[in-house]
Amino acid sequence: MQPFHVAPASRAGAVLTVDLDAVAANYRLLAERAGRAVVAGVMKADAYGLGMARVAPALARAGCRVFFTAHVDEGIRLRGIVPAGSAIYVLHGPPPGSAADVVAHGLIPVLNDPGQVREWSALCARAGRRLAGAVQVDSGMSRMGLSPADLDALGDPRDWLAAFEPVLLMSHLACADVPDHPMNTRQRTRFDALRARFPAMPASLANSSAVFLGPDFHYDLVRPGAALYGINPQPGHPNPLRQAVSLDARIVQVRTIQAGAAVGYGARYVAHGTRRIATIAVGYADGWLRALSGHGHAYVDGVRVPVAGTVSMDSITLDVTGIPDARLQPGMTVELIGPHQHVDAVAAEANTIGYEVLTRLGSRFERRYVGGGGDM
Ligand SMILES: *Cc1c(COP(=O)(O)O)cnc(C)c1O
Repeated sequence: MQPFHVAPASRAGAVLTVDLDAVAANYRLLAERAGRAVVAGVMKADAYGLGMARVAPALARAGCRVFFTAHVDEGIRLRGIVPAGSAIYVLHGPPPGSAADVVAHGLIPVLNDPGQVREWSALCARAGRRLAGAVQVDSGMSRMGLSPADLDALGDPRDWLAAFEPVLLMSHLACADVPDHPMNTRQRTRFDALRARFPAMPASLANSSAVFLGPDFHYDLVRPGAALYGINPQPGHPNPLRQAVSLDARIVQVRTIQAGAAVGYGARYVAHGTRRIATIAVGYADGWLRALSGHGHAYVDGVRVPVAGTVSMDSITLDVTGIPDARLQPGMTVELIGPHQHVDAVAAEANTIGYEVLTRLGSRFERRYVGGGGDM
């Protein structure tokens, strides 16, 4: 991982370092676990906040040729980044009226409801071409995909699938991060029953966590996102993946306060004795969640220091009593995410998940990308 004293080259409040070698290594580990299944890379929300423009080429160099985005516009942007011939799926399918853009950029829509199926079929008829489309069925999460009632309304898939080229039948698991949750087997059984109603086509059920549920869940293609970026796919078990980000925040000021002095909005932290307080240049506007007020921690050369009081928009106050002053000079940095503090640990202190911490990381940081070299 990165050295601790990461000094911002610019005036930015923090340096966000993305380790592209870690992303590539995570891809290879997932490929190993997935056996014969193709491993796609999920790129939604700008590669979970890490930056699709750099992450996607690094994944391509590791052998990834199938990508997923949530939105059409994410897919259009990704088309300009990945190697020619890469498959780009759009999980939400085309919003009404946008199918022509999907075609123009060679994206594959995931068709989630009868309206999307009909619009895509009609467009294929007009174009005189059977364009590739994926079909999502709801196996029990009740979020996206054709419901049993939708399937009844559409009739025999052998008829309506003839309008386009059906390249993938997929569904999504609700509880894959809890290995022995009964929903996993229930959804897989339902997925198999639904698959039997379709003509033979490639199938996909697994997100990151489900890759670790074993071969029964792999089918032909797996769709990890979080695990590529180092999030533990099985919370409570050792994390086999490499952390891919670190966040080092700049110290703005350090002060000594006396017993009875209050710190921050709401005066929620009151010193019981003489304390040293460091103010650092990251706040909730940068994705350092306000829920970390009074809960979060940072590290100074590996020494854990607590957040003192409320997280502000642009700054946090830390209780750095006991840390030598030579290490607390303005311009020096403290570790918010890195070798001592995993993104999942930050998430636990904020009562959320690593996904949310990563995807909220803000746009004011200086971003550095390391590794990921070589040709696609
Ligand atoms: C986000 C998403 C994924 C990736 O999930 P991770 O848990 O990040 O691996 C896969 N499939 C679908 C349908 C998704 O929405």
